[in-house]
Amino acid sequence: MDKAAQERPSRFPRQRTGIRVSFEFFPPKTEEMEKTLWDSIERLHPLHPSFVSVTYGAGGSTRERTHSTVNRLLAETDLVPAAHLTCVAATREDVDDVIRAYVAAGVRHIVALRGDAVGGPGERYAPHPGGYRNAADLTAGIKRIAPIEVSVAAYPEKHPDSPSVDADIDMLEAKIDAGANRAITQFFFDNDLYFRYLDRVHARGISLPIVPGILPVQNFNQTRAFALRCGASIPPWLADRFAGLDDDVATRKLIAAAVAAEQVFDLVDRGVRDFHFYTMNRADLVYAICHLLGLRPDEARAAA
Ligand code: FAD
Repeated sequence: MDKAAQERPSRFPRQRTGIRVSFEFFPPKTEEMEKTLWDSIERLHPLHPSFVSVTYGAGGSTRERTHSTVNRLLAETDLVPAAHLTCVAATREDVDDVIRAYVAAGVRHIVALRGDAVGGPGERYAPHPGGYRNAADLTAGIKRIAPIEVSVAAYPEKHPDSPSVDADIDMLEAKIDAGANRAITQFFFDNDLYFRYLDRVHARGISLPIVPGILPVQNFNQTRAFALRCGASIPPWLADRFAGLDDDVATRKLIAAAVAAEQVFDLVDRGVRDFHFYTMNRADLVYAICHLLGLRPDEARAAA
């Protein structure tokens, strides 16, 4: 065996690799979507994620639904919920009320975000005159209210509003100075982009965990549209792998599992141990990838 291969960590059981995962969900709009979400949570629950996060819809549009999903997680499961929160179109007082309500309900982890302009990611963002200016300001506001965990966003390909990667890292630094405990990245498909970004972040003396956000490609066209809006690139090889499969759901799913497995194995080989999965409220692909990573439900581990 060559030396590099010997040094590579084992790809198998969690006990040996120390793999930790977290799962992101969005609050459901309809009863049917609610069922899909809770079926997915039930399926993924036994994998013991470090936390499960619940997004906050654009412009605070899901405030009530985010809250009720988080409350149900607290009431009916032993999962650790992380509630997303944005500053969009809200005064500080409004946002502080949401933070206090979360804390009173038992939430101990918030994902603090600026959010996008009400007109969508293409429109220039303007903070509410009486609101938090950005995610760093929001992070400081949360920490003033309660000493809870705060995760923030990071952008390996820079945020579309940032003039440069360095300006983007300035904002990451401001979020850390405000008390952020971890950053979770926007999704990416080319791992080299993530490692180049980490090099630049580390060169600035930042040692906070920057957890890769992994998006299993449930639907390639939707992923491409999403990537365009948030400034993530789609490598030509990825488009090629899904080409011609628009009407072939079964093959698409197999390809998606293979693509995501390849990505996470490469990250594991290069030392990554924490993963945040954008589940899109669907469990199958994420469950399969976690299984490949060596994560097992309690019963399976107990029986092994
Ligand atoms: P910030 O960190 O405040 O800013 C983002 C970037 O914009 C900075 O890096 C900075 O370089 C640039 N910037 C900010 N202000 C200025 C300025 N005044 N001048 C020049 N440049 C500036 N959105 C939701 O609506 N709900 C969610 O639940 C949600 N969850 C997310 C979870 C993750 C892990 C990620 C990665 C993103 C999520 N988003 C969510 C999307 C996020 O709200 C958008 O990307 C938003 O545009 C930026 O939010 P932020 O917290 O990164 O902002």
